[in-house]
This record gives sequence, structure tokens and C-alpha cells, in this order.
Amino acid sequence: VLSEAADDINVEAYVIGGFVRDFFLKRGKAEDIDVVAVGSGIELAKKVSEKLPGKPPVKVFKTYGTAMLKIFDLEVEFVGARKESYTENSRNPEVEQGTLADDQNRRDFTINALALQLNKKDFGKLLDPFKGLEDLKTQLIKTPLDPEVTFSDDPLRMIRAIRFASQLHFKIDQKSIQAIKDHAERIDIVSKERIVTELNKILESEKPSVGFKLLHDTELLQRILPELTHLEGIDEIDGQKHKDNFWHTLEVVDNISLETKDVWLRWAALLHDIGKAPTKRFHKKIGWTFHGHEFKGSKMVYQLFKRLKLPLNDKMKLVQKLVLLSSRPIAIVDDDVTDSAVRRLIFDAGDHLDDLMMLCEADITTKNPNRYKKYHNNFKVVRNRIQE
Ligand code: ATP
Repeated sequence: VLSEAADDINVEAYVIGGFVRDFFLKRGKAEDIDVVAVGSGIELAKKVSEKLPGKPPVKVFKTYGTAMLKIFDLEVEFVGARKESYTENSRNPEVEQGTLADDQNRRDFTINALALQLNKKDFGKLLDPFKGLEDLKTQLIKTPLDPEVTFSDDPLRMIRAIRFASQLHFKIDQKSIQAIKDHAERIDIVSKERIVTELNKILESEKPSVGFKLLHDTELLQRILPELTHLEGIDEIDGQKHKDNFWHTLEVVDNISLETKDVWLRWAALLHDIGKAPTKRFHKKIGWTFHGHEFKGSKMVYQLFKRLKLPLNDKMKLVQKLVLLSSRPIAIVDDDVTDSAVRRLIFDAGDHLDDLMMLCEADITTKNPNRYKKYHNNFKVVRNRIQE
């Protein structure tokens, strides 16, 4: 249908971007397809709709010159090929109609610039000016143009590189990594909403620590989530050390990700120790303490959500609650399990007891095997008491 419609109105049309990439990767089920028309995307969408049974409605986004059509479960987005030019002083590009090649030039990565022709004459022909297929095979994230140009045109692409590396288990090309390291500060001009979309995708990937490690190594993380990088490092006084709570946090996030796909529980794991940086103290008699870090941490969750323009709703309250209570079950293990302590825990956790126990189990990651075993055994006792 797409092919016939394009030929009917005599425009070149291509499938481009994520769909083509995932097709070659044999990756999952596609939910959306991007179609580029060398001409009007809106007109093409209308023609396609005419040819479909029931003529599904075309949603037109006038300001962007794009259109969306739902074909069964698939959302098909139609855009006209664009040429973008960025100037030093403006964050928004000048946009004009362009060729397919122009449109491929403005893409973020070679693997996202692959296009398949839809017109009958060359149906299925791959247009791959930047050797994206080769990069798919060697599992490389690489910008189509000089990374300095691609990343300065839209600095969000720095995080997108890391997002794709984390989602696909790909490496980022060395020049691109260097460009990110050299210009991490450029991320400051990008809107919080766009950053959070990518952060959520990193958190939703199979092993989120891959993405967070890259964010850390390129120094993007200290600009986006300084609360986390403040947890890094081990201090030693009088021969007493505490654990590195940053690297510990990444372990906890990976652990919980084995158990749940819920992004808010993964956020809770990511933030569960943030109160520890501002509450850290050393006492001669007891050593390192983080007294009151749970309260501080749950307050910081609110501030962090507000800053990142994350929704200040029940999901935030869930994250706050888990941060507030996350060390409680483990403290009960340490202090010996009493029924009243367990009863209070059940009461305070309310509807989120299972989530809390999942987070706590993910949190027991101590490297010392004996301690780990002791925790685990005692933790089971707490869980069993709860189930009784
Ligand atoms: P996913 O399925 O994980 O969302 P995707 O590749 O579809 O992956 P989108 O963010 O939906 O990711 O982007 C769709 C396509 O649009 C990309 O494949 C890329 O070609 C292009 N694109 C999106 N954002 C940018 C950007 N900031 N700069 C350049 N090209 C972009």
C-alpha cells in the first residue's frame, strides 16, 4: 500500500531509522515506522489512508509538517525529507525541504540513517551512504558526520549514543566518545524532558549500569544527576573505610533489573542511597555513619524529580517511600528480627511491601561472601515472618 501510494502521487518514499535498524538486527517487534517522503509527508499519508480499508484517520501535525497513521498496531509516521542547518547562535535549526541524502545527513548515527526504498521500481533497495550496515555488524555507534558537528548541532545526541550502546550492547566509536568527553557541558542547553526520555531508556535497558558507566566516564552524569556522582569515592580515617556508594548503586540497579521491568522501581534503586553523600560523618568510636540519610534521600527525590521535570505524582511518592524505607528491612536483620519491628515495617510499607522487599534484596550486594550469606539467611527470616 505504501509503495502504491508513493507511486500514485509520484514521490520517492523510504522507510528509515529505527525500523530499518531493528529489521537488520532481527530485534523485537516494531511499534512504529518512520517513512520519509521526498516531497510532502502529509500528502503521502493521506494517499495511504485512502487505500486502506475503512480509511483510517490521518493525524496531521502542522507545525512539524508531519502526519501519523495507525495501521493495525503500527504507528506510521510520515515526514518530508529535511535539510537542517544549524547556526552558532540558535538552538533551533533552519529547516528546508531536502533530498533523501540531506535527511540522512541530519540523522544521529550511521545505524539510524539506513533507508529502504518503497517505490515499486526499486522496492526494498537499501540506501546506506555511511556504511551503517557495516557498523550494525561490528556493533558500533558512530555519527554520520564528524562527531563534533553532529553533537554540537544537537547535544542530546551525546546521551542518545550512550542510550543505544546500553540498549543494543554496542560500542561507541572512539572519536565520538572523545567528542562527548570534550564537550559534556553542551548538555546543559538541552531540555530536561528530552534528557529524561533517554535516561528512562537507559534505565529500561537490560543492564542499565552499561549506560550509567558511560555517562559517568564521559562526565555527563555529574551534569545530569550530580546526586549520584557525589556518592562516588571511599574515604578512610583511622583505617576505617566505607563502601563506594556510587558503584554499589549501579550494582543494585542491575540486580533489580533482573527482577522487574518497572522503570519506577529502577529509579528507586538508582536513588536509594542519594541521602548518603550529604549525611556522611565520621565518629571516632563508631566509624562512618550516614545518620538520617533515608529522610534526606526521600526529600532529595522530590527536588530531583522537580528539577528533571519528572511527574510529581504517585510514582514519585512510590520512589520516595522506597528510598525512605529501603534500609529498614536490612536494619531489622542487623538488630535481630523482632515481631514488632516487622509489624511496623509492614504497616509503613503499605501496598508497596513487595516492591520494598525486592529493592532490599537487590541492595544486599556486599562483596564479603560470609556477610552476604548471613544477610541473605536473616533476610529470609524477615520475609517469612512477613508472609506469616
Ligand atoms: P526506539 O525504538 O528505541 O525509540 P528509534 O531509533 O526509533 O529507537 P527514536 O528516538 O524514536 O528512536 O528516533 C527515530 C529516528 O529518528 C532515529 O532512528 C533517528 O534516525 C532519528 N532521530 C531521532 N532523534 C534524533 C536526533 N536527536 N538527532 C538525529 N536524528 C534523530
